[in-house]
Amino acid sequence: MLTSYQLDSPELSWGEDGAPHSNLFDDVYFDKESGLEETRHVFLKNNQLSERWASLQKKTFVIAETGFGTGLNFLCAWQAFLTQAASDKQLHFISVEKYPLSKSMLTAALNMWPSLNHYSQPLIDAYPEVCHGFHHLELAQGRIQLSLWFGDAEDGFAALDADVDAWFLDGFAPSKNPQMWSDTLFKHIHRLSHQGTTFSTFTAAGIVRRGLKSVGFEVRKVKGFGQKREMTVGELNQPTPPLTERMSQGQSWFNLRSDSTAEVTKVLVVGAGLAGANTAYALAKQGIRVEVWEQGSVIAGGASGNPQGMLYPKLTTQDSFLNRFYLAAYLHATRFYSALDKQRTFWDPCGLIQLPKHDKEAERFQKLLQQQLYPKSVLQASTQKPGSLLLPLSGWVIPKKLCETLLSHPNIQLRLNTALKELQSTTLQPEDKTAIRWRAIAANHSDTFSHVVLCTANDTNELSNLPHLPIYPIRGQVAQMNIEDAVNACLQKGESAEKIDIEQVLCEFGYVSPPIDGLIHFGSTYDLKDQDTAVREEGHKRNLTILEDLLGLKGNTFKTEDCQGRVAFRCAVTDYTPIVGPIQSTEVYQQAYSTLSKNAKWRSDNIAELNQQLYVNIGHGSRGLISTPLSGRYIASLIAGTPSPLEQNVSHTLHPSRFIIRDLKRSQKV
Ligand code: SAM
Repeated sequence: MLTSYQLDSPELSWGEDGAPHSNLFDDVYFDKESGLEETRHVFLKNNQLSERWASLQKKTFVIAETGFGTGLNFLCAWQAFLTQAASDKQLHFISVEKYPLSKSMLTAALNMWPSLNHYSQPLIDAYPEVCHGFHHLELAQGRIQLSLWFGDAEDGFAALDADVDAWFLDGFAPSKNPQMWSDTLFKHIHRLSHQGTTFSTFTAAGIVRRGLKSVGFEVRKVKGFGQKREMTVGELNQPTPPLTERMSQGQSWFNLRSDSTAEVTKVLVVGAGLAGANTAYALAKQGIRVEVWEQGSVIAGGASGNPQGMLYPKLTTQDSFLNRFYLAAYLHATRFYSALDKQRTFWDPCGLIQLPKHDKEAERFQKLLQQQLYPKSVLQASTQKPGSLLLPLSGWVIPKKLCETLLSHPNIQLRLNTALKELQSTTLQPEDKTAIRWRAIAANHSDTFSHVVLCTANDTNELSNLPHLPIYPIRGQVAQMNIEDAVNACLQKGESAEKIDIEQVLCEFGYVSPPIDGLIHFGSTYDLKDQDTAVREEGHKRNLTILEDLLGLKGNTFKTEDCQGRVAFRCAVTDYTPIVGPIQSTEVYQQAYSTLSKNAKWRSDNIAELNQQLYVNIGHGSRGLISTPLSGRYIASLIAGTPSPLEQNVSHTLHPSRFIIRDLKRSQKV
């Protein structure tokens, strides 16, 4: 596991011509004279991209690259794709970078190519925080998807779940950077390729040619660019196992991918809360028709309907796959909301201050800061409130407006007052690619769908033909108060009214956010085994205590009569981890993987059954505003067959079948 999510700087020096040079590798990123032409020759022309894009059948073409550097190769590919591929096609470009340039370095490097300004500026604007992990950027209205892995190439490709069509093998020369061109890297390049996948690289070094040959690529030396004598190209000309098998890496029980022959006709998303709206939106962006069924008469009627919610990631002192999920999801959510709501009608990235609840937590904060696990842009000491943490990228959201925006996508049809009662499965005929998989039945409506995603939170276990999932409701009562009432209450108590001047979200036992339309929102209670849907006065009392603590007021400053409230039920999971991914049958699993009960370390590449084209996206607890943009995108990638936005181990951590596997492994000890 990692000891820091921070990455080393690339240590550049700038030539007289303004071109960046890596001091670490003593090599150039590109040649100032001919950089553009060289990129086009080595990577675009030698992967035959013009020809392949002009006749592209599938919707998404996937390129993967070693060494993102200044993004020059990416920008050239983007520019060419827009002119050479049909307008309904998408380019998904994946690149890895161990020493990411800072935004200012990137800006300086790309200044050299005025002809690419139209592309480089949006890249600079969208460039993510320099923080370990995957970062996904959407450019050119979604036609260009960029997945950047910040970290070592080998780790990034080991974590990747994607089917690559062409490889750009860049990265400094093998003589200067032998560690990158490893056997493991070549194995992953093969794992992520299919018959017909091509590669090209500027180098003709033996280590690269032999490495690619040893994993099965056909390898040829061809004339290099300009004065350069030789470079290497090739392709995989042998059949490969289906994608799902190639991705399994010995943990086939976390089978993620559907049978790729099953056509996506129309997808049913059940539930119009944050998880449902985000899933539907991510699918709709892939050009997929989606119906959203919502049992209530409004969208975001459950826990997603609180008037104001904040982005409160619980970042731990240690690396884990769950922490990586929350970190990646948090960074993704802040970028996603900023891009979706340029007018700032439902999102305010005002920052969040986390105050320690007690001495032990104060110690934990100190440890977090000393360890420097996180970059400063993600987490730093608050100068305003000593002893507290500042999360500068965080802020608040109006969840209902967010859901409305997401569900207004033209590919989404919303049906309110439509409660799913039954899902009947129909048999798939392998030769019939248009076969329908599910008949969904509500009291007032029924229809057929190729895929179904349940975003039904605490109601999920009510559907009869699903494995039971270990979720439970936690009651939360939130409160709001008119800011004038709050100020008056302070003045009456002889307190300073300035304490109500809340500019950033404050969190401790609960939270309070900056006011919207003259109202401050705060809370929340955390009530286990409590089904009461009514707003209670004792709940107001508890919330007022939270508020008074946060604002540093003496007790009893505010009156419960001045509060209004709302009750909703979070959907929690026994292992505090969202449940996101494909649903598999418990019985089939128990049979196929029973060896685990004898040997918990057993690994298997045998996939027990085809994915049922049924998914869940639930269990987001109090953190749906953080986790659902990324979890929705992940589900959409599984259905659309596009590269997954999650590290594989992260998707295994969220996998709905983890409970079956855990029980099988545990039964060994009984
Ligand atoms: N493709 C880049 C462009 O368009 O600007 C140029 C790439 S530059 C020649 C090589 C890049 O590989 C550098 O940015 C370097 O930091 C990166 N790199 C080197 N070793 C790496 C490794 N082990 N993992 C990931 N990236 C690595």
